[in-house]
Amino acid sequence: MKKMRFFPGLILLVCARLVCAQTAEEPEVAHARADIAKLRALVEAGAVPRVRLGKAEDALADARDAAILRKTVYGQDLTVEQADDMIAAAARRFERRKKAFDEAQKLVDAGVAAELSLGTFLQDLDLARQECDLAESRARVTREAGEMARAEEALDRKLALAPGEARAIAERFDGDGVFTAGTFSRVETAFEERFGKPLPVSALGETAVHRALGFDHRGRVDVALNPDQPEGVWLRRYLTEKRIPFFAFRQAVAGKATGAHIHLGPMSTHLALGG
Ligand SMILES: [Zn+2]
Repeated sequence: MKKMRFFPGLILLVCARLVCAQTAEEPEVAHARADIAKLRALVEAGAVPRVRLGKAEDALADARDAAILRKTVYGQDLTVEQADDMIAAAARRFERRKKAFDEAQKLVDAGVAAELSLGTFLQDLDLARQECDLAESRARVTREAGEMARAEEALDRKLALAPGEARAIAERFDGDGVFTAGTFSRVETAFEERFGKPLPVSALGETAVHRALGFDHRGRVDVALNPDQPEGVWLRRYLTEKRIPFFAFRQAVAGKATGAHIHLGPMSTHLALGG
């Protein structure tokens, strides 16, 4: 499938260079922990200065953050909570590199080290900054998906308790009630032919955000388009003509301009709760 679905390939590429090169076993964490155990013995024996232990502990904390980023920046499916953890881990890694750079700069200023020695520190700092940017953009997309899911949850509640008020949350079109992978593929193609860009899909089927809300979003698709922007107007007209079921959400919470999207397919249902 050539179409971009969630995030540009760039994220995966840069991420591979940053923190994703290791295997899934978090070997860098195990490695850093083993180093600390060895060092501690040496420090206690007086063979190594205590400051080395502090550095090794920093390295362990950094390896843990790298593992968080590998799972989140690189992983496809995030909850809003994981997105927050991801931002915090990226920020800590940036701070460590900033500190290392500042220390190196001091040595250069004092005439103890050559200007040239700053190169690697600068490079690391730059990569850490890119890592923060990626984490930010990934988190933004996840939070938006969270708002969309909450809008659907609000609709679900209204439909159950006060169906008359449901219209205020979303415009509903039942069409012929059928939404399949084939239907979706035709929608994607028509959109791309009309606008020369891929349909901005924000959730394809069930995602971690839906699972966290106990929502069954399988066989449904969310499109990150405001129903009133030109692409959204076009999409609603297309879906209506083809009798494809959809829900158009203008906002998640009354008066708050977030969570706007077009949901393709029948409304999600709540997953049966165990026990
Ligand atoms: Zn949806």
